[in-house]
Amino acid sequence: MQPTTEWTCLNCGKNFKMGEWECVPGTSIMHTVARKDYWMDDAPTDPSNTAQRASRTFVHNVPPEKTIRDKSSGEAVRVPGGVVIFSRGHFDTTNPEQQYWIEFHGVTCTKERWQEVYFSANEKKELAELDIRNKQAQAERTVKEANDLLAQVKAREAKVAEAKGGKPHQGD
Ligand SMILES: [Zn+2]
Repeated sequence: MQPTTEWTCLNCGKNFKMGEWECVPGTSIMHTVARKDYWMDDAPTDPSNTAQRASRTFVHNVPPEKTIRDKSSGEAVRVPGGVVIFSRGHFDTTNPEQQYWIEFHGVTCTKERWQEVYFSANEKKELAELDIRNKQAQAERTVKEANDLLAQVKAREAKVAEAKGGKPHQGD
């Protein structure tokens, strides 16, 4: 996926682009954006391997090492690269620079793929059952809404028929 390169800060409300990370210029306060969840299919698909499924994966160069100019001394300062840790294949962040570099490295997968490799056969079965139950509940709601609507239409029709049926019109 192409990394997102434009964001809106939740603190200052500014729209900013890739590289414009500072929220309060000249400080270490950086923009904060809407949280994003990232998933990784780093677990073996063998569901009995629980130790491996509880593992952590370190993603380096999030962000990569960079050289900045120190504002007071004017000297070039090397800032070492960052590391983010995926725990059980999941990492979330509101830091746009981390979001950019995770997306840039292309190490993530969809949540569905993550479930595929992380969930045991039983968990998958439960999830599928939950999904069926949710769909049934949704279908029942839709039927109820349709019936309610039909009842309303019928009531209105009955009222109109009653009004036309010879009784003096009383007005609404
Ligand atoms: Zn900001």
